[in-house]
Amino acid sequence: MFLRELSASPSELRGVGPSMLETLSAAGLTTVSSLLTHYPRDWEDRSRSLPLRDWNKGPVCTTVSVLAHDWFGYGAMKTLKIHVEDESARAVLVCFNRPFLQRQLPVGASFRLWGRFFYKYGGLQSTAFEIGRPGEHEGILPVYPLTKDLTQTKLRRLIKQALETCGAVDDEIPPNLIQSESLFSKAEALRTLHFPPGMEALEKARRTLIYEELFYLELMIGRRLLERKGLKGGSTPAAPPAFSPLQQQLIERLPFSLTPGQEAAINEINADMAHYSLAAGSEINAHSLTSGSGTNAFVPMARLLQGDVGSGKTLVAFLSALRAADEGGQAAIMAPTELLARQHADNAAKLLEPLGIKPAYLTGNLKSGGRARLLAALAAGEIDIVLGTHALFSKDVVYRNLALVIIDEQHRFGVTQRQAILAKGLNSLQKQRTPDLLMMSATPIPRTLALTVFGDLDVSVIADMPPGRKPVKTHLAKESNAAKVYDFVRKELEAGRQAYFVYPLIGEDSDADNEGNGGGLRDAVSMAEKLSKEIFPAYRVALVHSKIDDEEKRKTMEAFRTGEIRVLAATSVVEVGVDVPNASCMVINHAERFGLSALHQLRGRVGRGQDQAYCFLIYSEPEQGETNGELSSSGPNSALTDDGKQRLKVMLESNDGFVIAEEDLKLRGPGQIAGIEQSGYLKLGIADPVRDADILVRARTGAFAMLEADPGLLLPEHRRVAEVLERAPPFKEVGL
Ligand code: ADP
Ligand code: MG
Repeated sequence: MFLRELSASPSELRGVGPSMLETLSAAGLTTVSSLLTHYPRDWEDRSRSLPLRDWNKGPVCTTVSVLAHDWFGYGAMKTLKIHVEDESARAVLVCFNRPFLQRQLPVGASFRLWGRFFYKYGGLQSTAFEIGRPGEHEGILPVYPLTKDLTQTKLRRLIKQALETCGAVDDEIPPNLIQSESLFSKAEALRTLHFPPGMEALEKARRTLIYEELFYLELMIGRRLLERKGLKGGSTPAAPPAFSPLQQQLIERLPFSLTPGQEAAINEINADMAHYSLAAGSEINAHSLTSGSGTNAFVPMARLLQGDVGSGKTLVAFLSALRAADEGGQAAIMAPTELLARQHADNAAKLLEPLGIKPAYLTGNLKSGGRARLLAALAAGEIDIVLGTHALFSKDVVYRNLALVIIDEQHRFGVTQRQAILAKGLNSLQKQRTPDLLMMSATPIPRTLALTVFGDLDVSVIADMPPGRKPVKTHLAKESNAAKVYDFVRKELEAGRQAYFVYPLIGEDSDADNEGNGGGLRDAVSMAEKLSKEIFPAYRVALVHSKIDDEEKRKTMEAFRTGEIRVLAATSVVEVGVDVPNASCMVINHAERFGLSALHQLRGRVGRGQDQAYCFLIYSEPEQGETNGELSSSGPNSALTDDGKQRLKVMLESNDGFVIAEEDLKLRGPGQIAGIEQSGYLKLGIADPVRDADILVRARTGAFAMLEADPGLLLPEHRRVAEVLERAPPFKEVGL
């Protein structure tokens, strides 16, 4: 039997009556298997004794004899005190809420005692102690996560009993890997994890169970990968698929040609969207990799398109949408902000309407009448491509035939959001199938995520930039030198170009971005005023931030794009996606307050045309400390923190999104990166892919090697693994 098949109720264990059963079930411990996988959150090493005399060196662990009982307090508050001694000293155990210890610990008897002691009223005392039969509190003991009414002692007894049935548990890791990775058998690993004979064995037990979990995770990811690859024709390389008719038309109308990276990405996407018939892959299909996949299983695209800011991902998105339209399907392009969604919609109108395509724009702000009409048109299939925010996937939106979902700036969305979106495709009126998925991002995914959450995605990378781009020149400036920056920008404006000024706050009293720290920081609203009246009176200056009405935002952005507005004062709403090639200056105020990826994205707003572009990072200088003249390095308004300094340094030294993402990971630590933990998607039991990255890589190698040799898991030595997946899979679903 596999561990997850031990479905007997804990009531079969000694000492579990109806009330205990209830307590256990409230904690989710309804089967023997769930007890055994209730892994300790920590262990206490009681293998070495510590006599009472040495109470201040750590928890005492010793054998004591009971000298006397006595009571203090009255009535319900009456509390038992037990006087004990070991060979080194005497002490008092204060038994709050444990009057029953009077009977369990009669005077004269010997017991094993473990507890934390303190010195009070001239003697040693403990209120946090455990006491048991000699032998019971020795060795390394598990410390379990507890819920109400459960105690460590009770859980330890139950789990110990449950482990006795464990001899029957089958290994899930194939024997050759157990050997080559020098792991424990499953039963041994479980026993050792709960009651380790020593620290080294404990480490090996942990490694075994982590490896097992990650092995199955990677096995399932590998099967999904193989499923798609296999069905697509496996090793037979397909001839580069031709552009579809609409794609061809758009490409011919463009004033430039595709970069090699864009072209390669489109070819890969076209191949995915062709959903090759099964003829070529039928051999692998015969192994029946997927449960229930018939000969005509449909294999949707799941592709991540990575390309640095400005590499031209939008065009790739439009071309993909055209392919869907060519086949009579609808495409939905989702952006994280209304500003960006609107820009995409405007671009789509310009580029696609001449081809006879009907794009539409849908956000949460759409007024009721317009919204109803739009929804009706979507359901009727009159709209080919719809662009918008996550409103594209609200409950009342029904597609006639949603064939392709594109998520721009995907790192801005949570994994669960992406899941919900994919499920939406199944609600299409016409076709019952998962839509193709194209996710786009300028932020490279960290390795651990690439191996887990994103583990079965195909990846296209646009490594080149459109020709003629010059790297943005980046300068640091102290706030006191801001006037010099203004002078520089003025020259650029005189030469006909445009500039962004970005601030960390919306308004003076704004607490939206920065609670309570508003004082002393420049904000977009008041600086827009100042830029327009004092600094650049000769030019039109406008303001955008998240609280400005959608329609007004649209007008402002349109006027900025046409060059009517020359200077844009903004918050980081312009961070994602905004594309105005004539803008040559990006001035980021209080730059030390922005994260690295935000800085990189903001800088990516300029340098999108042929002109040399500039990015100014204006930072506030540390002020003299108010009291003792010390430099404060962490004051809210003034100082450059070490991290802040480091971020600015990285920006100064690199223009490369991949380098910057790496540095970001180093500065923030992997736990902070949008991904697994936050998503709550991967419900792992004992493994933590970020912490256990090295085991993850080994498990992946093991799993993939097995699939390569035997994709259907048909060989006798793999039968066990196939059975695990069939009868008791550790995960319901993996990847995206
Ligand atoms: P991102 O990858 O950051 O989303 P965009 O799609 O916004 O980049 O493209 C940046 C700019 O590059 C846009 O102005 C776009 O029109 C232009 N562009 C895209 N592809 C090419 C190309 N092949 N040659 C020249 N310019 C291009
Ligand atoms: Mg973009």
